[in-house]
Amino acid sequence: MSFAENLASIQQRIHAACDRAGRDPGSVALLAVSKTHPPESIREAVNCGQLFFGENKIQEARAKIPLCPGKARWHFIGHLQSNKVRDAVELFEMIQGVDSLNLAREISKRAEQASKTLPVLLEMNVAGEGSKFGYKPDQLLSELNELNALPRIEIHGLMAIPPYAPVPERARPYFQKLRDLKNDCEQVLGAPLPELSMGMSGDFEVAIEEGSTIVRVGTALFGERISRFKPAN
Ligand SMILES: *Cc1c(COP(=O)(O)O)cnc(C)c1O
Repeated sequence: MSFAENLASIQQRIHAACDRAGRDPGSVALLAVSKTHPPESIREAVNCGQLFFGENKIQEARAKIPLCPGKARWHFIGHLQSNKVRDAVELFEMIQGVDSLNLAREISKRAEQASKTLPVLLEMNVAGEGSKFGYKPDQLLSELNELNALPRIEIHGLMAIPPYAPVPERARPYFQKLRDLKNDCEQVLGAPLPELSMGMSGDFEVAIEEGSTIVRVGTALFGERISRFKPAN
């Protein structure tokens, strides 16, 4: 299947999920997760009208993004190490995956040096898995005001990567939990948070039914990841 065909099929499924949930399809953004895929794949995607991409490794992004069309817009997804923040602030228009106050402070500091303000999503560990990055709910709620007070980040919402489930329906409780947590955060902040980044190739329709505003889809758009792109350095 070509990227164009995959994209059309995913868009159709997004529309159908929105219909089921009584939502406007314009309220769900499709983030094409392009990690491991080469610049030619991004170019093809941009030619199909897909402009919104996600990468999860700074080294790869630093090598790849300059080779891609300037129209493409980039989100960092996943865990970011503090020593990579300076590059992340330069390369990405949003960081999805802030999971500690220290990281948030570093982003705010580097954004200030770059004369920017950076939108971020806070990553939640929704299943309490020991092996996963992400805030535990109590910890997030207690740090939220301090996070929100940092001058150069803007909290736009929450993201999560629920445990792998062979059946998409099993991810539903985690999506509901993330949505509830967003409500809790809004109560603490006294302001609405627009974004819920949840749902991947295997479960984005369920995520949309539960309120996702950003679905992060890789494999279903680009095919299997076989690391055709290796940064030179
Ligand atoms: C790789 C990745 C995705 C996309 O996964 P697919 O199953 O290929 O759609 C989504 N979110 C994050 C954070 C990822 O690292």
